[in-house]
Amino acid sequence: MEVGIFTERVKSKWRVCCAVKNCNSKASKNLNVVFHKFPKAGERTVLLENYFGNLEKIDKFKAWKKLLNINEVTPQMKICSLHFKKTDYILSDYNSGKKI
Ligand SMILES: [Zn+2]
Repeated sequence: MEVGIFTERVKSKWRVCCAVKNCNSKASKNLNVVFHKFPKAGERTVLLENYFGNLEKIDKFKAWKKLLNINEVTPQMKICSLHFKKTDYILSDYNSGKKI
């Protein structure tokens, strides 16, 4: 499955790095990835496949935590686009205009 790699954007000065374990993406170095803020708890729900293969409505915040294996979420936390499949952008609020 293709991951979300984008055309190089303008070099930014933000000191943003990805919060996912073992990921070394940095906004200043990896110009072809985009960084996403963690959704707020209770903000939105997404459909996520559960253990039984059924789609289940779950809080987007919880879904991200679960999928990205993150225990502690801070407001500064950013997740890089390498953890999203292109098809996942249907589920994201990336500026493609597609919304959950
Ligand atoms: Zn990352």
